Amino acid sequence: MRPDEIESALQGLADEHRLRRRPLLSGPQEPRVKIDGRDYLAFASNDYLGLANHPAIRQAMQQAIDEWGVGGGASALVAGHFDIQQQAEAALAEFVGCEAALLFGAGYAANLGVITSLVGRGDAVFADRLNHASLNDGCLLSRATFKRFRHNDLEHLEQLLRDTPARSRLIAVDAVYSMDGDEAPLRELLQLAERYDAWLYLDDAHGFGLLGEGRGALVEYALHHPRVVYMATLGKAAGVAGAFVAGSRQLIAWLVNTARTLIFTTAHPPAQAAAVLQALQLMEQEKWRRELVKRHISLLREGLRATSFALCSSRSPIQPIIIGGNKETLQLAAALRERGIWVPAIRPPTVPAGSARLRVSLSAGHTHDDVAELLAVLLMLIC
Ligand SMILES: *Cc1c(COP(=O)(O)O)cnc(C)c1O
Repeated sequence: MRPDEIESALQGLADEHRLRRRPLLSGPQEPRVKIDGRDYLAFASNDYLGLANHPAIRQAMQQAIDEWGVGGGASALVAGHFDIQQQAEAALAEFVGCEAALLFGAGYAANLGVITSLVGRGDAVFADRLNHASLNDGCLLSRATFKRFRHNDLEHLEQLLRDTPARSRLIAVDAVYSMDGDEAPLRELLQLAERYDAWLYLDDAHGFGLLGEGRGALVEYALHHPRVVYMATLGKAAGVAGAFVAGSRQLIAWLVNTARTLIFTTAHPPAQAAAVLQALQLMEQEKWRRELVKRHISLLREGLRATSFALCSSRSPIQPIIIGGNKETLQLAAALRERGIWVPAIRPPTVPAGSARLRVSLSAGHTHDDVAELLAVLLMLIC
């Protein structure tokens, strides 16, 4: 990209209905939001349990600011690792049933840091085609040979594993796919990892808080194993921000020594850790949140079953409606907005070409009536 080319490149994106902008939110992230000055019922956030504006978490964070201040100061390796973050790491490790855990500033940073710590030049990474972009970026940055296998296709993966001469191997998958809501066959993937002597790296951004009674995919599938490296984000169902990696004490010690997105970054705000500790408690105590989301999922799926809308095989709060073309998808999203409903249109390159979709995201913050309203408007729009 040369400086004089940006203008026409932006115009090109606009012509293809791919120009993106950030809708301006004036208030907290909740199902009822004001965006660009208008009120909407939104199905856009990954705040699946409705914790992003929970009073107990707000209070925990406010109190922690009084105790710990706001800034991290420097890398935790240089200026110190906050005790409250240590407590959060211990609680997270226990919550998911691992020996140890390590906080990162974001899921994106965790994926880059962990993958590049475990594999490098001469090694090989194997990634599902529908993996999140941050996993792909971690794989590319690692300089390992990067092989992508067809979505959830174990035979394709096995063939690639069989053919690799690399000594260190890593299989990276989303536990729950972020744009489809379906799940990876984790038990079978672990068997392949064992057979072909590979790490299995699980990105549970969309399973943590929901699967395994809230403890995530590792617990749901009882996958605790020295080959498994677990990552979950804390900005989605946990409602806060950041991410953590969990595994053996040795693995965590290795990451502290080698994960560049941990070493060369400023420690994140300590008050965030206090908020995470409070979110974990709520995830444990307020089971009704998961149950309510499940009811919302059934209501929406039942309601759309007999229509021409194509749903994915998802039991997660991610319920995409595949439309196909970019333009049609944008038109449908605009028609919903006219009726006060905000559902994001997801287009390539986030999803494969020709599979543009409305990504409906359900939350315990929604009421039964909210979901019924979405359903009624969708049904009206296809008639
Ligand atoms: C959101 C997401 C990430 C990135 O996490 P952040 O904390 O938002 O940086 C990583 N992986 C998947 C699958 C995600 O959906």
